[in-house]
Amino acid sequence: MPKYVYDFTEGNKDLKDLLGGKGANLAEMTNLGLPVPPGFTITTDACRRFLEDGGLPEGLDEEISQHLTALEGRMGRRLGQADDPLLVSVRSGAKFSMPGMMETVLNIGLNDQSVHGLVKQAGGNERFAWDSYRRLIQMFGKTVQGIDGELFDEALEELKHGRDDLELEAADFQRLVETYKGIVREQTGQDFPADPHDQMRMAVMAVFESWNAPRAILYRRQERIPTDLGTAVNVCSMVFGNCGMDSGTGVAFTRDPGSGHQGVYGDYLQNAQGEDVVAGIRNTMPLQDLERLDKSVYDELMKIMATLENHYRDLCDIEFTVERGKLWMLQTRVGKRTAGAAFRIAVQLVDQGLIDLDEAVTRVSGAQLAQLMFPRFDGDAKTPKITTGMNASPGAAVGKAVFSSERAVELAAAGEDVILVRRETNPDDLSGMIAAQGVLTSRGGKTSHAAVVARGMGKTCVCGAEELEVSTKERRFTAPGGVVVSEGDVISIDGSSGAVYLGEVPVVPSPVVEYFEGATDQDDELVRAVDRIMTHADATRRLKVRANADNAEDAARARRFGAEGIGLCRTEHMFLGDRRQLVEDLVLASSKEERDQALAALEPLQKADFVEIFQAMAGLPVTIRLIDPPLHEFLPDYTELSVKVALAGDRAEEKDRRVLAAVKRLHEQNPMLGLRGVRLGLVIPGLFAMQVRAIAEAAKAVEGARAEIMIPLVGAVQELEYVKDEAQRILTEVGVEALVGTMIEVPRAALTAGQIAEAAEFFSFGTNDLTQMTWGFSRDDVEAAFFSKYLELGVFGVSPFESLDRDGVGRLVRIAAEEGRATRPDLKLGICGEHGGDPDSIHFCHQAGLDYVSCSPFRIPVARLEAGRAVLTSTDSDTR
Ligand code: PEP
Ligand code: MG
Repeated sequence: MPKYVYDFTEGNKDLKDLLGGKGANLAEMTNLGLPVPPGFTITTDACRRFLEDGGLPEGLDEEISQHLTALEGRMGRRLGQADDPLLVSVRSGAKFSMPGMMETVLNIGLNDQSVHGLVKQAGGNERFAWDSYRRLIQMFGKTVQGIDGELFDEALEELKHGRDDLELEAADFQRLVETYKGIVREQTGQDFPADPHDQMRMAVMAVFESWNAPRAILYRRQERIPTDLGTAVNVCSMVFGNCGMDSGTGVAFTRDPGSGHQGVYGDYLQNAQGEDVVAGIRNTMPLQDLERLDKSVYDELMKIMATLENHYRDLCDIEFTVERGKLWMLQTRVGKRTAGAAFRIAVQLVDQGLIDLDEAVTRVSGAQLAQLMFPRFDGDAKTPKITTGMNASPGAAVGKAVFSSERAVELAAAGEDVILVRRETNPDDLSGMIAAQGVLTSRGGKTSHAAVVARGMGKTCVCGAEELEVSTKERRFTAPGGVVVSEGDVISIDGSSGAVYLGEVPVVPSPVVEYFEGATDQDDELVRAVDRIMTHADATRRLKVRANADNAEDAARARRFGAEGIGLCRTEHMFLGDRRQLVEDLVLASSKEERDQALAALEPLQKADFVEIFQAMAGLPVTIRLIDPPLHEFLPDYTELSVKVALAGDRAEEKDRRVLAAVKRLHEQNPMLGLRGVRLGLVIPGLFAMQVRAIAEAAKAVEGARAEIMIPLVGAVQELEYVKDEAQRILTEVGVEALVGTMIEVPRAALTAGQIAEAAEFFSFGTNDLTQMTWGFSRDDVEAAFFSKYLELGVFGVSPFESLDRDGVGRLVRIAAEEGRATRPDLKLGICGEHGGDPDSIHFCHQAGLDYVSCSPFRIPVARLEAGRAVLTSTDSDTR
């Protein structure tokens, strides 16, 4: 029989798969000798079985009982014992942190008898005991019994009658307990369960079930957390932060998670229980003030935080409670941080000797680097600042103010940029936060829900802007000086400074981009950190990084960003604008002479294009792809032209008639599967030859030019052979050398790669088309048509156009790489589909043995970093 329950003394931090992050770290802290209230963890394995079978797995009840008995023995009291009760908390804890997404129930074990025992335990503190009891009914009712939480909140608001929660007395809470019990009876048709063991069992099941709550599913999808992990459940003896002013609860970070600067940062709330801080119920005090309130607790906390940082060798966040002057640790984990903080902290830890540079590279991600490349607000802008809140998650966001998540989703779907404005957010606001450019709240600190979730998502957030009066009902807020901002008014929020502006603030580029552009000023600590990490990533990576660029400007920028060549220069953009006419002439040519004339006119223009690009990339390889899309894409629209011809009647120009006939002739039902790529080259005589000649002439004219000629859409080696022979003939004629290779973007090409490699000197995986053709998904239509449904159903966790589908498309890539190299051991392999700039796909390319990835210029730094990380990390997903 599997072991489903682990005492805190039995686990350790490396058992996150089984015990969840919270359980594993509680065990680790227990083993470190830190003051953790005793308890035990029910494994994720038990949860998975529960979710599969719809009931607690066999033997779990007995195992829980044994561990509870042991806990009771240690604590010297029984769960819910009438005269001296042991109370426990039941908390979720998955492998990956999902802040506020799943359930927690505190104070289990209270009922009409044991509440009196709790009064005695607390030295006669009636207020505390009744407050704890009402919290149990409230949390239990909402999370375990599924009662609308508003009902409890409203009853509490009514009782408060404008008073602060600290002004409520024992009798108030006692009355509230009766009201709450009434709500439970009314909503469920049953009395609140008085048996402590029933309470615990029901709470455990509710935590298991919360794994599949809609908001948890949404969060996992957003954060790309696998859906089948399940959550562990932690049963922990209660300690109380709400039994007087010598008690309290807090959240802290061992460094500032916003900036990465050294020094502790946190919030503390006197006489309150855990959830109050995160929910932003009352405004908290800075952790530093605890030193004044209770120096010995503060000193002990500082010591523990230093221990944790040295032990985990990283920024940790913690939750703690002070119960009548005694400090208890309730949670720790490696803390979330902003992108800038991640880079700074990684380098600081290297300087402190806690980690080496290899590890520093793994501590940051391409997604974080991409965030740092976002623009910032222009500091000199004249836009009026209306208030300043807390700088909870950096970035610059501009959009229309909206006051509900529904509205945020609605407007965002219509293509509008919005800022979600709330008094405070709760987990139900997740969809609105995802839809919005940024989040602004008037309550709660840097550890409030809004702040934690926004940071995790890399979304700009300003929180705790207390001067704002937010009215969700009237869909507006007022700011000092009588400024009223209504739904639809544009505001700008600065997540790095906390500033809120009325109107649109212009943005300026990021210093990190300027650094990549070659600015030498290294005064900025962030820039220095990025530089050290990038330098090490470059020294570590095996994959080369090239750019997709089809003009000299992009090529030059890509080179500054660190591109080691061009992996895809698309030539079709060069056929637009004034040159459309020449393409039209080519299509309309009715004799060899006419066609040759059109091609002869195009050739010098093409040559000039290539000269510029070769110059920008001198010394580095440039892969030029011959024209790919169907020619009718360059002709006028069929409907427009036929209307024009029809209206003109007999007076229609001869040329229009001829173009119309050509458009009709070239019309295709499925152009993506039609006359394009190499097929076009074989059907239109002289087209590819003209391009090859232009490339060869340009390469001859530019010193250091290294041309590679790439044929698109090849499915059979014979296609390639025809084109290659002609290309080689022209290259010899002109007297230059160039590799000739092919894209692998048709499944047949992947499956016959061994044959194709006989003719190809390199392969470049065109994973846009390869994904389209492997799945049978139209690149242009499906994302809008049904991907949201597929994501919801879990057919895939992320669009296969965004992140390479390892099982299907990835398998084709591996087959082609292996069989191609079996034929030609020095075959050069690259990728130039959009996936070449996607972190997860880059790791795949590394694993599959490719030589380079090619991506858009702006993603080059991300690709360099991820290529380095791919060498250093070996996660489950890499070895799949
Ligand atoms: C591809 O198909 O992946 C590719 C790079 O070519 P294009 O996107 O131009 O079809
Ligand atoms: Mg393609």
